[in-house]
Amino acid sequence: MDDYTGLEDELRCQELVELVTLYLERELGERDHMRFESHLAECEHCRIYLDQMRRTIWLTGQIRAPQLCLEERAQLLALFGGLAARPER
Ligand SMILES: [Zn+2]
Repeated sequence: MDDYTGLEDELRCQELVELVTLYLERELGERDHMRFESHLAECEHCRIYLDQMRRTIWLTGQIRAPQLCLEERAQLLALFGGLAARPER
């Protein structure tokens, strides 16, 4: 198995894909979180992927989505459609 000794160890795209849900739930350990973000900094494909995941999760409500009735959700989606993706921080 992986035997990483430090933050130098680079995440591969495949791993990032596997960790993305945990990342979005803020449940990654500190070390994996750092590796995740350093990979993102270098990999445009994964940035795009993450952005799509964020949107998908919002749209499907799989993670931490508030319970909304259909009308509220439709309004929210309309709102999101009008916004450019922006980092949450
Ligand atoms: Zn990547």
